[in-house]
Amino acid sequence: MEQTDIAKFEEAGKIGKRALETAVSLIEPGVTLFEVAEKTEKLIRDSGAFPAFPLNLSINNEAAHYTPFYGDKKTFSTGDVVKVDIGAQIDGFPSDNAATVEVGNTGKHSDLIDASREALNTAIKILRPMIPLREIGAAIGAKISEFGFKPVRNLGGHGVARYDLHSSIFVPNYDDGNGKLLKPDQVIAIEPFASTGIGMIHNGPGGNIFIVSGTKVEKDEPIYRNFSTLPFASRWLYGKIDKPEAYLKSMIANRYVSQFPILREHNGTLIAQAEHTIMILGDRIKVLTS
Ligand code: MN
Ligand code: MN
Repeated sequence: MEQTDIAKFEEAGKIGKRALETAVSLIEPGVTLFEVAEKTEKLIRDSGAFPAFPLNLSINNEAAHYTPFYGDKKTFSTGDVVKVDIGAQIDGFPSDNAATVEVGNTGKHSDLIDASREALNTAIKILRPMIPLREIGAAIGAKISEFGFKPVRNLGGHGVARYDLHSSIFVPNYDDGNGKLLKPDQVIAIEPFASTGIGMIHNGPGGNIFIVSGTKVEKDEPIYRNFSTLPFASRWLYGKIDKPEAYLKSMIANRYVSQFPILREHNGTLIAQAEHTIMILGDRIKVLTS
């Protein structure tokens, strides 16, 4: 990897980490998700970067992909298990990190939250260039099971590349039998999810996060100029585009844009997540978001 690219990844990692800490510190009972998202993303922009994707605030049985819409009145409640997931990008080089908080610190779900975080720590401890991907998954799955929970099997970590938040590699959260080796000179995100349910996620309704789809969009289209091929929030169109909701609707109807569904388990289950972005070098690894 070029030294200048490494430096951009590193800076994106540092800013992404600060953004995550900020978001976590702002979450209190009664506070709106909208306020936390807007303040966190502002911190990223004030740091000379852009959000790599909208702040995800996914609650209880939701694993990922909810961000507040413009003017969203939804608030945090005591006892909510909130997955906080954010990253920064510099010149298209993204970071991606996440933590789980229990609103009001009631401590009822500390075990679940510890399970995902400990699984991430365990994976990082064994991580090395040329490790088989299944070995990472096996370590994550074993640690989560030790806590008495299920790893989510159909969600996992991924490669991270310029303007490509989810590049080709899939890093499993259980031993999926994938013997492929983790090659040096790339960046990955590892993200264990621990569930009180069966550990399988399905698609829910849209969560207000969108992405340019395919190659049909004109390069001078405002969404492409602003966000390129990274995910964006409908909130972000306000002040940039007239009648943002109508614009977005027409872009979706023309299949220029698609919306991410909320990823969730059934009502009553709880899910915790932890995530870091990690650079794999020839002789070592470097955690970019810690
Ligand atoms: Mn993430
Ligand atoms: Mn990720």
